[in-house]
Amino acid sequence: MREPNVSLRIDAELFATLMEKVSEFGDTGDGGVNRPVLTDAHKAARDWLCAVFRSRGYEVLIDDIGNLFGQMDLAGPGAPLVMLGSHLDSQPFGGRFDGAYGVIVALAAVESWRATAEEAGIAPSCNFVIADWMNEEGARFQPSLLGSSVYAGTVARDFALARTDMSGATVEAELMRTGYKGSDAAPKPTCFIEFHIEGDDKMEKSGAKIAPFVRHWGASKVRIEVTGEQNHTGPTPMQDRHDAVLGAAYIIAKVKEIADAAADTLYTSVARLDVSPNSPNIVPGKAVLFAELRAPEPVMLEWAEAELRAALPGLAARAAVKAEIIEVERRPAGRFDAGLVALCEQVADFLGLKRMQLDTIAGHDGVALNGIMPSIVVAVPSVNGVIHRNDEFTSEEDLVAGGNVLLQMIERIDAAGGDLAKAGGTK
Ligand SMILES: [Zn+2]
Repeated sequence: MREPNVSLRIDAELFATLMEKVSEFGDTGDGGVNRPVLTDAHKAARDWLCAVFRSRGYEVLIDDIGNLFGQMDLAGPGAPLVMLGSHLDSQPFGGRFDGAYGVIVALAAVESWRATAEEAGIAPSCNFVIADWMNEEGARFQPSLLGSSVYAGTVARDFALARTDMSGATVEAELMRTGYKGSDAAPKPTCFIEFHIEGDDKMEKSGAKIAPFVRHWGASKVRIEVTGEQNHTGPTPMQDRHDAVLGAAYIIAKVKEIADAAADTLYTSVARLDVSPNSPNIVPGKAVLFAELRAPEPVMLEWAEAELRAALPGLAARAAVKAEIIEVERRPAGRFDAGLVALCEQVADFLGLKRMQLDTIAGHDGVALNGIMPSIVVAVPSVNGVIHRNDEFTSEEDLVAGGNVLLQMIERIDAAGGDLAKAGGTK
């Protein structure tokens, strides 16, 4: 096995240039980007990425759910294929680093590794593919992690293609419109590595520069429909009202109470409420709540969901309405690959970067992929823990440090011939 290359660093200038460029797509002028999936801004960013891939000799592949891949064969056909990446879509008026960092740092790392290997006369033993997953964010189309989940086989393709946004446009129609309804077979790698901003302030507080996520929390996304009766908000006597939003309000408060009963081991929210007909002088006839329950342990999620379910009839009765769970989407809790975690930690130590272990509570494409191949998501610090907002920020130094860890990880995986356990020293 080759000795680890002490001086291996990513091309920081290339990384900065690419990061600057990708941030122009959907630039909101205040540091953020507005680049929801399959919008014109998102299409422009993807078109640019395709052009960069092609100009650097990558094969561009687009599968039938709109996942975009750039594959670089350095070791010839049949060699182990290592997949890196994240997503280029953003939340509405989100930040520039969430997702885009993972794609750009992957490209910078593979390009740096390629240049280094060429210069040093090393024959690589692995091929590399960079993924830009379709609809990670789930802001415009639900559920989130859509492209990676279809890829992983946990969400049906037809179901995904038929998802609609608020205006009724389907994923399929928008894939066609933007030119990302492909027909290429998706690559079949041996592992997946995603770098991402932390989106919390645990690293900043502890001074850590690198944090492999070791567990991913599970989530139950519960859609509840509250049905009342549409009426005038003026003359209708109070006792005759069946106010769906009032019923929703009781449910929202209950969701928070459930979280309070399980302090720190259960996170909850109701972040979206679709009110019908949504007029200030009509007693609402219908309200749909999007409740989320998240926990590191499956038993906690089951408990929370059961509590909510049991409470619904009583809460609805208080508002003289009906409440019904119409959809539950469950993402199981789990652990990332131990070999990849060990490898990440060794490299961080080797580079003298303070590290810590984290759980990820948010979903990531790496979580979806972890079910079918060894995967890892590695975090770099977020200033003030901000994410999904224009002032989301990670310093250039911390971004590049993450890139150096990624580069050394892929170099060691390559040196081990694609054997993760060997690369991570767990075998
Ligand atoms: Zn993300």
